[in-house]
Amino acid sequence: MAAFGSVFMPQMTLAAFENSNWSTPELVSSDAIQLHPGAHVLHYASTCFEGLKAFRHDDGSINIFRMDRNVKRMQQSSELLSLPAFDESMLEHMIIDVVKHFSGEVPAPPGSMYIRPTHIGTEAAIGKAASPTHSSMLYVLLSPVGDYFSGGDKALRLLLEEDGSRCAAHMGMVKSGGNYASALQPILKARASVNADQVLFCPNGDVQETGAANFLLIDGNEIITKALDTSFLHGVTRDSILTIAKDLGMTVSERELSVEELLERAAKPNCEAALSGTAAVLAPVGTLIHDGQEFSVGNGNTGETTLKLRKALNDIQWGKTEDTHGWLTKI
Ligand SMILES: *Cc1c(COP(=O)(O)O)cnc(C)c1O
Repeated sequence: MAAFGSVFMPQMTLAAFENSNWSTPELVSSDAIQLHPGAHVLHYASTCFEGLKAFRHDDGSINIFRMDRNVKRMQQSSELLSLPAFDESMLEHMIIDVVKHFSGEVPAPPGSMYIRPTHIGTEAAIGKAASPTHSSMLYVLLSPVGDYFSGGDKALRLLLEEDGSRCAAHMGMVKSGGNYASALQPILKARASVNADQVLFCPNGDVQETGAANFLLIDGNEIITKALDTSFLHGVTRDSILTIAKDLGMTVSERELSVEELLERAAKPNCEAALSGTAAVLAPVGTLIHDGQEFSVGNGNTGETTLKLRKALNDIQWGKTEDTHGWLTKI
């Protein structure tokens, strides 16, 4: 199987904002876009994106998971980056149209069609370092993906980083390219120095998130995770897992979690930790690395509750249980 996100459907839906108006979205080739070398996005990083999935059910229907949430987050990212505003219904139609067009290509579970809406500033104006772009391009790419855990479901090693941050504090809730660029060096260094899979950013001891996923501590019947603020990305998977956990009678504590408390709780035999995000749903965390020391989370292996919660969410996505929260859009 090709690497996640490296295969694309040959067409995408695209709309352009020019002269204060959005063009009618069109289905166009996804091989290339034309961009002026002085485009705002290439110099001043006016770019944001989304990641959501469409699933094939046994009855042949195609279902998109929590599209409304992702569209709203994209509107919020665009606003915080001073990119042109767009209607929720325009992007929803662009997503539905392109997924419908390629509905025959949506893989069956555990695969899915990964959907990547992207919004970039296109104005050719290198003098606009401190001004917003007047034109932009919004497009929806599709990438069929297979089983995220086909290479195994090994518990991850996370380096706890207290000194650096993933991104500027006021940009945390924006799903924007620059944030990933800013997290890359710490991640590469953590891989090279302690063989970590990811960095868990904990600025000033406040346990936040990794480069592209939210962090959940599962201590027996309780899930502890950072309460929503502007410093980190508000994951749709995080919200979905917390909702399912409450449905299952678990206690959900959204609050500050310090590195000290994390390490103390992780030492308990029944403790688990996981990363949440659209690609994996829940990826188990087995080891925390802090100040040159390694700490197992619980028994250091994939936790039972992690697997139970992941299955409960997959069952909804895959149409194997009732969608009681109305999270799926059948197209
Ligand atoms: C996309 C992302 C997440 C996960 O969000 P989901 O909506 O669950 O996919 C978490 N953190 C960061 C930094 C992200 O980019």
